[in-house]
Formats: sequence, C-alpha cells, structure tokens
Amino acid sequence: MKRRDLLKGSAFAILATLTASYADTEKSTVERVETSEDTKLSKKGKNPKVVVVGGGWSGLALAKHVKRFAPQCDVVMVEKRDQFISCPMSNEWLVDLVDLDFLTHSYLDASNNNHYDFVQAEAIDVDQKKQLLKTTRGDIEYDYLVFAVGIDYDYFEWTKGDKVLERRLRSEYPAGFIPGSEHITIKEKIQNFKGGNFIITVPEGNYRCLAAPYERACLIADYFKRHQIKGKVVIMDESNKIRIKDEGFSSAFSEIYKDYIDYMPSAKILSFDLEKKIVETDFDEISFEDATFYPNVKSPYILEKLGMVKQTPYNRVESDIDQYSYKVKGSDHIYVCGDARPMGFSKSGNTAFSEGINVAQMIADEIHGKKPIWRSPVTTCFSLLRTQPQECISLYTEYDYDKKGKMRFKNSMTDEAWKSNGLGDARVAYAWAESMYQNMFY
Ligand SMILES: Cc1cc2nc3c(=O)[nH]c(=O)nc-3n(C[C@H](O)[C@H](O)[C@H](O)COP(=O)(O)OP(=O)(O)OC[C@H]3O[C@@H](n4cnc5c(N)ncnc54)[C@H](O)[C@@H]3O)c2cc1C
Repeated sequence: MKRRDLLKGSAFAILATLTASYADTEKSTVERVETSEDTKLSKKGKNPKVVVVGGGWSGLALAKHVKRFAPQCDVVMVEKRDQFISCPMSNEWLVDLVDLDFLTHSYLDASNNNHYDFVQAEAIDVDQKKQLLKTTRGDIEYDYLVFAVGIDYDYFEWTKGDKVLERRLRSEYPAGFIPGSEHITIKEKIQNFKGGNFIITVPEGNYRCLAAPYERACLIADYFKRHQIKGKVVIMDESNKIRIKDEGFSSAFSEIYKDYIDYMPSAKILSFDLEKKIVETDFDEISFEDATFYPNVKSPYILEKLGMVKQTPYNRVESDIDQYSYKVKGSDHIYVCGDARPMGFSKSGNTAFSEGINVAQMIADEIHGKKPIWRSPVTTCFSLLRTQPQECISLYTEYDYDKKGKMRFKNSMTDEAWKSNGLGDARVAYAWAESMYQNMFY
C-alpha cells in the first residue's frame, strides 16, 4: 500500500480547483498560480459541484461515495491537514501495539484513487448568496456544501472563561481526542511515567467515542503492568456509571486491573491546582503525577462563526440541522454530518463513515431528482482490554426515530464476555480498522 507519498505531484491540480476572487483580497496567504478565468470551476456548467469540508471519517466516505452515486459530479474535499492520522487505534499506538504507519494515510491517495480533488486549506467563511466557500487558499464555488468538520473541545465547564487555565490544560494535559501533537505528548507522558496517579477524565454529554477513555485506561494500565511501573490509572468519570460496554469494562477493571485502575463515578472536577497537581471534586481532593484532561466537546468554531449552531440536551454548542435531511436550518444546499452533527448518535468513526455514505446518497438523489430518504448510521466499536493475551469487547447498533422524532437505538448487540467470547480475539479490531482505511483511501 502506498501511504507515504505525501506532498508529491498534484499541488497544481489542487490549485486549479480554486477561484481567485478571495486570493485577490488575501494575497499574503494565497499562492496564485493561475488566472481567475483559467482556474474557475463554474457551478453553472453541466456538472453539479459538491464540496466537502473535512477529510475525516465522514468527509472521506462522502467524497468517495458522491462520486460513485453521481459520477457526473465534480467533487472537492477541503481539509486543513496535510495527512490523515486515525484516532481509532491511536490508543493502541500510545502503548506500542501498532506503529504510526498503520494510522497514517495520504489524502492524495484517497483523492486520486477515488477521482475527486483534494485542496489542503482551511475553510473560513461562506457566501451563501454566491454559493462560495472561502478558504485560506481561495474561494471555491459549490452547488452542495457539506461540513464534516468533527469536533472541538469545550473547556468552559472547567474554566468558566479563564483563558490561562484553558491554555495550560490544552497544552500541558491534552485530551488526545483530536489527532496529532496531543497524541505524541500523551505517548511521552505514558512512556516516561515513573509512578503514582495518572488521571484520565471522562466528560458528560455526547463526547467523541464513548468507549475510548475506558479502553485507553485499560491499555495504559496494561502498559504499567508490563513495564512494572508502580502507577495507577485514576478514571474520573463525570457520569455515575460507565457509559458503554459497562459489563466488559467493569469486569476488566476489577479482575485484570484491580491494582492498576481506580474507577471513580460521578467525579466532576470543580477546580484544578496545577502547581500542586491536585484536582478537587464535590467529595475528594485527588493528587496526580500526570494526567490527560478530556473536556466536553462542541461543534467546531467555523459552524459557530457561520451562525449554524444551537444548544442540545447533550452539549452546549452543536450544529443546527434538520435531523432527517442533514441540511443546515434555513439552507437547502448546506449539510453537516459526522461527529459535527447534533443528534445523539455515537460520535464515532464507523458512525461518521456510514453517515458520510448516507448523506452522499441523499445528495445524489437530489441531483437525480429523486426524493432523498433518511437511513440509519451504523455504529460498530471494538475496545481492547489487554495485550497478553490480546482481548477485546465490541458493540453494534443502528438507530431510528419514534413518531415524535426522538432518537432510539435499534438492533443493538454487545459482546462483552471477554473471558469466553469467540469474537474476543483482538484481531477483529485490527481487521475492522484496516478495512475502514481500505475503504476510505484505496
Ligand atoms: C482515542 C480515540 C479512539 C477512537 N476509537 C474509535 C473506534 O475504535 N471506533 C470508532 O468508530 N471511532 C473511534 N473514535 C472516534 C472517531 O475518531 C471519530 O468519531 C471520527 O474521527 C469522526 O469522524 P468525522 O469525520 O466526523 O471527524 P474527524 O475525523 O475529526 O474529521 C474532521 C476533519 O475536518 C477537518 N476540519 C475541521 N475544520 C476544518 C476547516 N475549517 N477547514 C478544513 N478542514 C477542517 C479536521 O482537520 C479533520 O480532519 C476514536 C476517537 C479517539 C480520539
């Protein structure tokens, strides 16, 4: 598999998708190689143009599948990063079970193999009247615009607007739920840990990947055990119980990691003393040697800036869309999908990927003059519990809405009997990830 041929070749093709009007006003940030008339991809031409912002699990699925379902479309994916690093399986990378190559993939491979354009740029604004997406590398015209922009962190509950505290939490104790530097810092923390309490927090609300903090706790505890580090993982969970695969994780905490994991339910942090390394809850003061603090999540700033957000029962800031059509309220051409959506579906990669396909189908249906139909996203989630032997637990669910439009779970199954289950072999988790990367990039 070709994975590391980044930054070769197609920069010219990429720039050819940009229009020049924004470049005129933002010369300092825009590299001009073509004149406006040469580079303009006109939405007035015969091909409908679909632009997706975000090259994560949802955006990659959407770009590929719009092109499949409506091959006549011009499809452009705008992503601010230059390469894809997977969050799923990053817990395994933190403790050396997979290498970085397994997680890292090329946007050029994805776009070349699946016949769409990749523009490495940040989306910064939208002119809805002119149907223009403004990016750091120029304007892009669209007929259909999809924001698959993932999540951002919301520190407000902890900091109440104290920017100094927020900056310190972000940089010294990163959450590790957005890929990149945060993960590298956390890996260094784990591998240099000398002993004592290592705090992991679990937020309330609908946070990204419900199972991942508990899986991370197991794998860090497993690492401490294997390397004979006298450390304890303290899981401070804001909820009153484990939110997902409760039986599997609880039994792992008590049976495999009795001396290595302290699980604290209803442990909402009220204050931080980062000098003394103490956090305070309603009931306790807990000291720590190191930590990763995972705050609440919210929709990314671009959607806030565009006024496309609302409050939900889950989170303070979420995108404001119709839950059946995925269209931003008040717009017929702008969609939001993946973790940035406000519905209570699991904020997870498999869910975001399947939703990308569903929304691609709905856009293709519109283009073909058919009535788009809502389909359920699909959540499949594997969590490794230990490494010797490697064992995992899993969950599957679909969703529907009742007559009042309230979300329900459908066809749910879990397999949490890690001591005896046939599917408990961790190979299925690696195989799932590999098949998803194949799907998105090749
Ligand atoms: C540790 C960990 C373990 C996980 N394990 C699993 C698992 O086992 N199974 C599972 O299904 N899920 C898992 N997940 C969850 C999964 O990673 C996310 O749910 C998934 O990434 C969501 O996909 P998305 O496309 O909505 O968002 P993302 O993958 O975050 O993609 C959004 C993209 O948009 C880009 N972007 C944002 N704003 C802009 C902008 N203005 N302009 C241009 N680009 C922009 C970002 O750079 C990003 O690449 C895990 C997550 C973590 C952190």
